[in-house]
Amino acid sequence: MLAASLAHLSAWRLNEDQELSDSLTGLASRTQLEEVTSRALERGGPVSVLFIDVDDFKDVNDSRGHAAGDELLRVVAQRLRACVRPGDVVARIGGDEFAVVVAGDADVAHAVGERVLVSLAMPVPVDDGLLAVHASIGLAEATEDDRTAGALLRNADLAMHLAKAQGKNRLVGYADGMAEAARRRAGLQQDLLTAVPEDQLELHYQPTVRLSDGRTTGFEALVRWRHPERGLVPPAEFVPLAEESGAIVAIGRWVLRTALDQGAAWIRERGTEVRMAVNLSPRQLFDTDVVADVVDALTASGFPAELLTLELTEGVLVRDVDAVVTQLEALRALGVRIAIDDFGTGFSSLSYLRKLPADVLKIDRSFVTDLPGGRSATTLIASIVELARTLGLDVVAEGVETDGQRTALRDLNCGLAQGFLFARPQPAGEASAALDVAASSVS
Ligand code: C2E
Ligand code: MG
Ligand code: MG
Repeated sequence: MLAASLAHLSAWRLNEDQELSDSLTGLASRTQLEEVTSRALERGGPVSVLFIDVDDFKDVNDSRGHAAGDELLRVVAQRLRACVRPGDVVARIGGDEFAVVVAGDADVAHAVGERVLVSLAMPVPVDDGLLAVHASIGLAEATEDDRTAGALLRNADLAMHLAKAQGKNRLVGYADGMAEAARRRAGLQQDLLTAVPEDQLELHYQPTVRLSDGRTTGFEALVRWRHPERGLVPPAEFVPLAEESGAIVAIGRWVLRTALDQGAAWIRERGTEVRMAVNLSPRQLFDTDVVADVVDALTASGFPAELLTLELTEGVLVRDVDAVVTQLEALRALGVRIAIDDFGTGFSSLSYLRKLPADVLKIDRSFVTDLPGGRSATTLIASIVELARTLGLDVVAEGVETDGQRTALRDLNCGLAQGFLFARPQPAGEASAALDVAASSVS
């Protein structure tokens, strides 16, 4: 029994005389991977492939240099090797692309892929700092109708792209129809390039409410895309595509300008302070002179810098803390505030947080959902509030939908909140009603 399975495994290996040929990582090359896959398919039995693409590798290369990038790839290679079973073959098939041929069905490969995600989540030491590394993984199992290495890799690649589109750092299994979905995404990506010049973007505004008195202190601007054929496309669908293609830079610039023009108009009309929060994508932080863009938008609109908050998701901030800190400090020098969005989801430790120049923590909706009553959510929110108090930061709870949640948050001393309970994100005309409520509730 053991002998038989060993024989099976050794048949998976490359020929004796063949060297594993990726010189950087010592892994198999793409050609070797295809050979191994073809041989395994010919022999019959279940065969699966994991297609693994390091998330935002370009940012590391750009901010840390190629030597650090290479080091990161070597660490990824080591971790992949540690995650697979004897007999599985790991290859580096492109710059930051890896693949694993698994001698097993989709369930077996899924378990391997899950181990990879967990193993990569541990920060990597790179020139006396720590880098968080994540990857998007696509999984495909060989089917009866197309048992070729090419088809298997293509399907795993398609699934990987969906993992990217769904927000990265996850595993997605191939399903029929993904090729069609990929074509649709490619179409959207193409269309996105003209979304700004053709005036197809809109901003909706969601109020931020002070829990002690119910007053609106300001708004978060949230982008929507009115596609000529598809109607209103939500940001979860197109922001990742725009990030991938780089279109997010122009979109982000437009969002800043538009949100600050609107904020300035409200301040003029009302004669009161209105804060404005704008989401920034990592590309804006690393690929453009975001400081110049913010200065331009502030100058053109006349919006006061100290009323602007720039939101960055926690996952982005912990990726390369040193590079991020430099950028955030430059932004803060303008007087604007920095918020850590979706806080609690991105593995940031206390030591990261102490380093980050931040002013606001936004508690992720997934914790608020479990209120009232959820023990771990309650404990976690209580400690975030306490942490924020110690560091002198504001706290905003995201996604408040019920009265029970609002009361629980107030009891936990959470200062501010956003959510459907108060208002959905709406076009400026409707959103400004939140300012009326604020005004009348004070009088
Ligand atoms: P986010 O910045 O965390 O924004 C909060 C999201 O939660 C918004 O989704 C909002 O509509 C939704 N939300 C607010 N209250 C509730 C609630 O009570 N219940 C539920 N279920 N949801 C609530 P939206 O507008 O679809 O935006 C999704 C994400 O897209 C944002 O998450 C942000 O990361 C990104 N995004 C939106 N606009 C921009 C932008 O202009 N630039 C960039 N880079 N990203 C953006
Ligand atoms: Mg946000
Ligand atoms: Mg959020």
